[in-house]
Order: sequence, then C-alpha cells, then structure tokens
Amino acid sequence: MKIQDLHSAFLANPSISTDTRKIKANDIFFALKGDNFNGNTYAQKALDSGASIVIIDEEEYLIDDRTILVEDVLTTLQQLANFHRKQSKAQVICLTGSNGKTTTKELINAVLSTTYKTIATKGNLNNHIGVPLTLLTIEPDTEIAIIEMGANHIKEIEFLCKIAEPDYGYITNFGKAHLEGFGGVEGVIKGKSELYEYLTSHNKNIFLNADDPIQKTKLSTYTKKLGFSSTDSKYYTIKLAEAQPFVHLLVEDIRMETNLIGAYNFSNCCGAIIIAKYFNVELNDTKKALEKYTPDNNRSQILNNRGHYIVLDAYNANPSSMSVALENFHSLNKQRKVIILGDMFELGESAKEEHQNISDLATGLNFEELILVGENFYLTDSIAIKLKNFEELKSHLTKNPLHPKSSILIKGSRGMALERVLDLI
Ligand code: ATP
Ligand code: MG
Repeated sequence: MKIQDLHSAFLANPSISTDTRKIKANDIFFALKGDNFNGNTYAQKALDSGASIVIIDEEEYLIDDRTILVEDVLTTLQQLANFHRKQSKAQVICLTGSNGKTTTKELINAVLSTTYKTIATKGNLNNHIGVPLTLLTIEPDTEIAIIEMGANHIKEIEFLCKIAEPDYGYITNFGKAHLEGFGGVEGVIKGKSELYEYLTSHNKNIFLNADDPIQKTKLSTYTKKLGFSSTDSKYYTIKLAEAQPFVHLLVEDIRMETNLIGAYNFSNCCGAIIIAKYFNVELNDTKKALEKYTPDNNRSQILNNRGHYIVLDAYNANPSSMSVALENFHSLNKQRKVIILGDMFELGESAKEEHQNISDLATGLNFEELILVGENFYLTDSIAIKLKNFEELKSHLTKNPLHPKSSILIKGSRGMALERVLDLI
C-alpha cells in the first residue's frame, strides 16, 4: 500500500493504535516491535478488537486484506506522519533541550491555545514513535502544533526534524543529561543543536534563550532568530521579579505570578512568552495562561503532607536539574530542611564524578538532614546518610521518622520512583 493510500484511509478515520488493549473501532493498528514484544503477533487480536487495518512487517502474520505487509512498521508510521504533516497547514514548533522540555511545551501550549487552535505532545511522547504519533493528531483546523523532541544520542533530533519538518524551534537548555549516549556535554550541545541547524538550513525561525551562555555564543551563526534575555537589552527583556517560592516575571511592565517553583522555571516561562509574542498573543492572555498553569506528574510539585512541606521533583534527575533544585530549595525560607536524593541514571563514565559533585554540593549547603539513596550515591565519599536502595530508605525512615513539620526536597531519576517516599513520611 502506498503511503498516500494509507493516508486516505487514515483521514477517513484518523485514529492510530499501537496497543491492542487500547484499540477503538476502525483504528489503524501499527504492529511495532519493542525489546520484549513483537506487535506482529497481535495482528489477529487487533482485528478482533475492531482495527480496520493492521500494518505488519512479518509475512507469516498476514491474515486477510486488512493486514498490510510493509518493509518496516516503524518506518511506515514515520512516513505516514511526515506525509500528514506535509499535507497540513499547521505551523509546527519543535522543542528540545536537556531539561524542562515537557514543562515548556505545556506552557507554550497554554499561551498559544488562548488564541489559536493547537495540538501538542501528550505527556512525554517525545521519541521516534511519540513524535510521529503526535504529528498524526494534527487536525484539519489545527493552526499550531507544539512538538516535544527527546534525544539521548547524536543525530536523533536531526532524524526527528526530518519527520516533523519544523517551522520553528526552541532549545530549553544544554545540560548534563544523557551524558552516556551523547558522550559528554559537547555531544549534548551538538545533538540538541541539530534542531537549530535544521531550521537554519531550511531558512526557518529559531527562538533563543539568550540568557544561556552556550546558546548566546552560538547566536552569531543563526540568522532568523528571536531571543529573550533578562540581562541583555538587545533581546526581548523578561525580568525575574520574584523567585521564591513561586516564579514571578515582569514583561513590558506586566507582572505575571506563576504557580511554578524554582528559578529554573523562569526560563521555561520565558520560552513560552517569547513564542507567544512572536505569534501576537495579547500579553494579558499570556499572563492569564501562565498564571493558570499548575504542574503535576511529580515535576516540581509542592505538597503538604501530614504537616510536612514537600517539594516533590521525583519525575527525573540529572546533574543539571539536581543542582538547580538543590540551590532553589536552599534559598527557600523554610525550617528544618531535609533532602532525599536518589541516583541519577544514564551518566555512563561520568556517574561516579557527578554523584560525588552533587553529594558535595548538597553537603556544602548545610541542610538539616541529607539522605542519599541508590548504588551510585552509596559509593560517594560523603558524611550524609547513605542508603543502597529504596528498601533501606524505607527501613531508615521507619526507624528514624522525620521531625514533624519538616521541609523536604525529594528528587531522583525516574527509575528510583522516589514519589514512593510520600507513603513513608
Ligand atoms: P524528559 O527528558 O524526561 O522529557 P523534560 O526535559 O521534558 O524531561 P520536564 O519534564 O519539563 O523536563 O522537567 C523535569 C525536571 O527537570 C523538573 O522537575 C525540574 O526538576 C527540572 N527542570 C525543569 N526545567 C528546567 C530547566 N530549565 N533547567 C534545569 N532543570 C529544569
Ligand atoms: Mg519531557
């Protein structure tokens, strides 16, 4: 089947499924493969569950003319998404970066949807499967699509750009994330910059964080750009009016009081503001949208749990986001500060050094109590309480309950699932 014909079938019922448990009537089912599963084996189940077409890449699973054999199911999904994107009149904004992509994406969507018909990446569907699936949610009347792109190795963003063909792009920052796959910070910069390189070579626009020294030094190489800065008046000026506990910003004399904590969320807001400005969203609409946005999903959430004041940032962690979270928590005007940190994953050879650095930073900030959890933190040279795993943390907290009315920062990589701490305190 040609992509064009598949696309016609898609337009007749624009709904895709990659999971037989979630199929709806007339979905097109893509039999993707993962490390532990082969979607082809679900072809019959997909048809039984109501799929109209099932795309497979192993001949033995052909059933009838509703099963379509292709060379590679994933490639076909990506080609369909690209075809759909090309047919659409929507403007496509892509964003990547080491930290803050999902938050910034949500903020951009919040501000632009005040004025435009938008679609945006759902949750964190930001990879070679999520990006095509997101593009396929573009509707005929969609005006702007906001697409998050994640990467953990070189050339990944370049590849995603070929699928999404962005008109605009924004890089949140370059940090110490996925150092393993990128082979160090230089690799991160190169890898994330693939978005700006793509846009520049296609004569498209980029949005810049001119407060970021790395983006700033690269500015001269990019021509079509719109940047913000809190310090350099050559760019659109956005000031941080207040950082504690919530980020307040000052833009053209309008004060915006967000529900976001952490000075690091300042630049995430700025990304949304500069994009809203470019698209001529009324500043007051931008203000309302930013002020309404409240984070969830364990990303910098503030909770009051049995008398404790908790900053739950257990969604993920890497050296950059750890250090900003620690510094932010340190500057909070709160009593009895307790830090519970879990290991940072995907750091490769840098793991030992980076865990030591974070341990040193946290120790130097003199919190009331510092608890480090995980195999990497356990190996650090630290005076903190070091625990090998979550089980040890559990028994530690059972034997040594935290002082009532503590202020607690909880942060670690996704695999540590430190939100479970909430049940222990
Ligand atoms: P992922 O790589 O998992 O997609 P992401 O880039 O989408 O992550 P978010 O989910 O928005 O990032 O935020 C995750 C965490 O990163 C936040 O809870 C916060 O601790 C930290 N963070 C958010 N924004 C920034 C930023 N601009 N600079 C540094 N750290 C940040
Ligand atoms: Mg994300």
